[in-house]
Amino acid sequence: MINVLRGFRDILPPDSEGFAAIEAEARKVFALYGFRELRIPTLEKKELFIKSTGTTTDIVQKEMYSFTDAGGREIANRPEGTPGIARAYIENNLNQSGRNSKFFYIANMFRAERPQAGRYREFEQIGAENIGGGGPASDAETISMLVNLLENIGIKDIVVDINSLGCAECRNVYRAQLLEFLKQHSETLCEACRGRIEQNPLRALDCKIDGPRLAETAPQMQLCEACGTHFSETQELLNLAGVKFRVNHSLVRGLDYYTRTVFEVRSNAIGSQDAIAAGGRYDDLIKSMGGPNVPAVGWAMGVDRVALLLKEQFAAAEHGVKVFVVASVKEAAKQAREKAFALLSSLRKAGISADFSNFEASFKSQMRAANKSGAAWAFIIGEEELKNGTVSVKDMRNAAEQEQIKLEEAADFFTKVLD
Ligand code: ATP
Ligand code: MG
Repeated sequence: MINVLRGFRDILPPDSEGFAAIEAEARKVFALYGFRELRIPTLEKKELFIKSTGTTTDIVQKEMYSFTDAGGREIANRPEGTPGIARAYIENNLNQSGRNSKFFYIANMFRAERPQAGRYREFEQIGAENIGGGGPASDAETISMLVNLLENIGIKDIVVDINSLGCAECRNVYRAQLLEFLKQHSETLCEACRGRIEQNPLRALDCKIDGPRLAETAPQMQLCEACGTHFSETQELLNLAGVKFRVNHSLVRGLDYYTRTVFEVRSNAIGSQDAIAAGGRYDDLIKSMGGPNVPAVGWAMGVDRVALLLKEQFAAAEHGVKVFVVASVKEAAKQAREKAFALLSSLRKAGISADFSNFEASFKSQMRAANKSGAAWAFIIGEEELKNGTVSVKDMRNAAEQEQIKLEEAADFFTKVLD
């Protein structure tokens, strides 16, 4: 017996139907905000993530699923969507005027991290990238779309944290102050942080071990005038859109490319893996990758974690077919089976979901299957029905109710009378 890989999993019904419901809701919300789908490949050159996600990030340092292919190329399974979208934007010249530059993706991601509830090595993200809009309206639009989506899906107790990481200039000043502070406290830092503070001191604030403690004492970033205005206008617009949020000065994101606004969304309804979506502005990324100088802001939502929150809701949802067809006739069994099979086709052609189990099995066992299927109605062809050219209609929720109708009128009868 060969088992599934550690950290990978099968998503069975009804969870799979929950995933599909989340995806369907996302497609509706994206259409409302003018975002269109961009499908990116699963594999990219490893270099793409090193250059965009960043060499000092956990994703690149520890979590990448990469390999060398038979042609000697260094390849990675995508750990996140933004680098692929940015590459596609540049490669397909999507900055030309008249082209839509608000994109979404629904895609599986791969990260070799320690598996636990809500944390897997393959997981799904729904993401949005709003490219071209540099003003605070784009930040507020992107964040409110995310909150709108989570509310529509049915997530309760949504907490939105926002912060500004400023521009390259604000960050240069801050970097020096923070580095000084971290050096003074270096003996209290975890090994990973000690190794990377010189390269990227901000990373320490996002560290799962050191971050929370440092947040209380570390110096705060002072934004330049332009970044300060951008941040306060973003907040005003979020208020206008009715989005509730908190400013959290210790929020930094684990990726190198963020500038100005960053945000994270959690739900108080789950325990430790409570981050369900996160994102931010990345004004310098596309240019740094050799593309045009265009600002952008985006986010990614973890579908697995959202699905975990709604697990009970999905389990309670009805997924049974409408009609279960049963054929049970001892003599002329072949004829009854053919009638039943033709009935199934006519029901399905009329848009009525229908199923059956095994016409060769006993009446009792077929009725048991009908019960288990969750179907609301059973259409039964027995000796008498076969003789009269009829079908018996049985209400599965009310055992007493049963009536015979003409076989050829069954689909019509269902649409007009039962449903
Ligand atoms: P975390 O701090 O939980 O590791 P992250 O900062 O690595 O999250 P992002 O890269 O911002 O996560 O991804 C956005 C969302 O994707 C997260 O908020 C989370 O819901 C989801 N996500 C990230 N990693 C995983 C994973 N390994 N398994 C399941 N979902 C994940
Ligand atoms: Mg992570």
